[in-house]
Amino acid sequence: MAEQRIAVVTGGNRGIGFEICRQLARKGLRVMLTARNETRGKAAQRKLAGEGLEVAFLRLDVTSARDITALARFLDKTHGGPDVLVNNAGVMLDPRGSRVLDSKTKAYQDTLAANFYGPLALMQALVPNMKKRRYGRIVNLSSGLGQLSDMGAGTPTYRVSKTALNVLTRTLAAELKGTGILVNSMCPGWVRTDMGGPNAPRTVEQGADTAVWLATLPEDGPSGGFFRDRKAIPW
Ligand code: NAP
Repeated sequence: MAEQRIAVVTGGNRGIGFEICRQLARKGLRVMLTARNETRGKAAQRKLAGEGLEVAFLRLDVTSARDITALARFLDKTHGGPDVLVNNAGVMLDPRGSRVLDSKTKAYQDTLAANFYGPLALMQALVPNMKKRRYGRIVNLSSGLGQLSDMGAGTPTYRVSKTALNVLTRTLAAELKGTGILVNSMCPGWVRTDMGGPNAPRTVEQGADTAVWLATLPEDGPSGGFFRDRKAIPW
């Protein structure tokens, strides 16, 4: 029997992250649904259990160095390390209609803490183990709002954070060439979640699909790419 892959998903309690957990569990991966709030995380875990999907829950605030260290230690001890990391947790803190000239330094700091430094710290904590085992799939939930080729006005802190996350994807992918670890960014499109709002055209199923595909890529899959609907898109 093939080895059961271990997948860590951040922000798994709702929205696209919850759906990624569901789809990965359906595919037979051992999913670690993580969330910063224990009550909300356990409620999500119970909801999946009600569908016959057994996932583990671990509390993880991606802005907490202590939580990240605890997660890495736990995974090393219990499972020999993670195989898949889905950096899904994210925030959009720009007030409606915000512009560069009125944006606040604090908003950049708080946004980068969750959308950039969190994924960075998780990669630094979990990739060394992936390297030892010569297998890893890292999926960074980015956004079209982070595309330099299509950069427009508004939501500056969020845009900066997602463009910066894309830099990590490309740089780390290049650094890990030939190690068996594939690192990619994806854009889920505009999805009906708390972040996307009720008028977004896409379902969470559609939003999660490309992330799940990247999380389960075969050995010869792409690395260092940016995808939407399983197709490469410009940076
Ligand atoms: P969402 O509904 O707002 O959910 C965000 C998730 O991230 C929640 O589970 C939230 O936890 C978690 N989170 C936020 N800060 C965290 C932290 N410090 N530690 C741990 N978890 C944290 O967002 P979504 O629409 O599902 O978006 C998921 C990802 O897709 C994000 O990275 C987002 O930027 C990206 N994206 C979304 C869209 C869209 O249209 N929805 C478009 C492009 C990209 P709590 O419940 O505790 O707040």
